[in-house]
Amino acid sequence: MIRKTKPEFIAPYLKDASNFSGGNAEEVIIPESSEELVIFLKNETRPVTIAGAGTGLTASRIPYGGVIVSLERFKEIAIEEERRIRVGPAVTLNELQDYLVATNWFYPPNPTETWASVGGTLATNASGSRSYKYGVTRDYVEEVELVLVDGRKTIVKRGLKIFEPLKLEDGSQISFPEISYQSPKCKNAAGYFVHPGMDWLDLFIGSDGTLGVFTKIVLRLIPCPADFVSGVLFFEDESSCWKLISKIKSFNGEEIAPCSLEYFDHNALEKLMRKHQNIPHHSRAALFFEQDVAELKDYDLVLENWYEFLSEENIMLDDSWFAQGTKDIQKFHDFRHDIPIIINEENSRAGRVKLGTDMAVPDNHFISMMEFYQEILGTSGLDYVMFGHLGDNHLHINLLPGASQMEYALQVYDQIAEQILEWRGTVSAEHGIGKLKKKYFAKMVGAEGLSDLKKIKDCLDPGNRLGVGNIL
Ligand SMILES: Cc1cc2nc3c(=O)[nH]c(=O)nc-3n(C[C@H](O)[C@H](O)[C@H](O)COP(=O)(O)OP(=O)(O)OC[C@H]3O[C@@H](n4cnc5c(N)ncnc54)[C@H](O)[C@@H]3O)c2cc1C
Repeated sequence: MIRKTKPEFIAPYLKDASNFSGGNAEEVIIPESSEELVIFLKNETRPVTIAGAGTGLTASRIPYGGVIVSLERFKEIAIEEERRIRVGPAVTLNELQDYLVATNWFYPPNPTETWASVGGTLATNASGSRSYKYGVTRDYVEEVELVLVDGRKTIVKRGLKIFEPLKLEDGSQISFPEISYQSPKCKNAAGYFVHPGMDWLDLFIGSDGTLGVFTKIVLRLIPCPADFVSGVLFFEDESSCWKLISKIKSFNGEEIAPCSLEYFDHNALEKLMRKHQNIPHHSRAALFFEQDVAELKDYDLVLENWYEFLSEENIMLDDSWFAQGTKDIQKFHDFRHDIPIIINEENSRAGRVKLGTDMAVPDNHFISMMEFYQEILGTSGLDYVMFGHLGDNHLHINLLPGASQMEYALQVYDQIAEQILEWRGTVSAEHGIGKLKKKYFAKMVGAEGLSDLKKIKDCLDPGNRLGVGNIL
């Protein structure tokens, strides 16, 4: 086991992609195996924070003290049997996808940042562009080896329900507390996942590093699609793009059945134009779509369906882009990935901080949400960019206030959160709450909800030592 105590060696672990500063830790522990981790935790009394790859956006891996445990040595990767792969939590999504290239298997969750570790994606229940069809990380986790902060270890398998006790290797048991809290019904990554009759596994996934440490992970795979029909559509006005989403949804997954529907508003396009000069200059919005094709023989039919459908709609069809092969598909993914990257780079250069939203609403409020965003942002006088997962009613608004506008931008953020909650939406649909969104989460679940969630935390970590400061 490696122990790092020099401040210059600890410093890299006190960062993630959120720009949060102010964390500190006494040391970083790097175990080589679960056994080493168990021994360490059994003898430890300080607060413990788990480090993944540091691509998180909520400062959830950054501690206010105690020790950081980094699982960076947990890199095993092996196909277990058909449809299952065993990975160490430190395996990155890049490494997982590269490994799968030589197989006929596919891991659908596609959170844009491929340097994220699989362990981190479980802790945040990451989703991304393909969640519209394929769902979120939770849907692909079959089994984990889990270590509690007191060093007790267990294997948690899909199918173990919360009305049964969670049995630990030392013979002890934990029962799920009696609570009335339930998670919202829209896409959601805020707080613990709670649904009646759910699996224990679902509780640990998305728990922001506060309930247990994932040391081994078994993921479910699906057969690899033969290809993707994919394009970037441009629109002269934003509302034509929004209306198209409602029409696509009305197909109910038949004929037109995309897995990704990703939005770019006019401000996002303006930023992207600096790198992608071929964006049509008079476009006000764009939609990246892709539909997986199970067998190559169906490709032409799927493409024809899309052309036929789109030719009737209010789209700048001649100016839109359609993939001609896998290179183009990758280019479209890079195009999508470029937007947060460009914003982060511009902010670093300008010494500016962004306020990023991650909110979603149930389907029936989709158009109202878009109109509300247009109104409140258009009249705010703030620089902003809007992009994200339109198919899931889940957008990322990046408010980009100047130094003197920060307080005002926070007020705008508050107003947005208030409206989203009125529609029974969520303040975090994929990044989690971490340390940065607790105020909004508290509003979302109320005092009773918080007290219920605290009961869950108490039964797994009564000393409140794991991931201190996240969520609650
Ligand atoms: C440009 C960019 C685009 C992004 N796009 C998306 C997107 O489309 N969708 C999306 O969902 N997210 C997105 N993210 C956010 C980020 O990639 C995810 O939150 C990711 O899951 C974090 O993984 P990580 O390994 O970097 O975790 P870290 O940031 O290191 O940690 C995140 C949390 O996971 C916990 N953790 C890490 N490993 C373990 C473990 N083994 N056991 C228990 N807890 C653990 C940590 O304690 C912490 O609470 C994006 C980020 C960036 C920078």
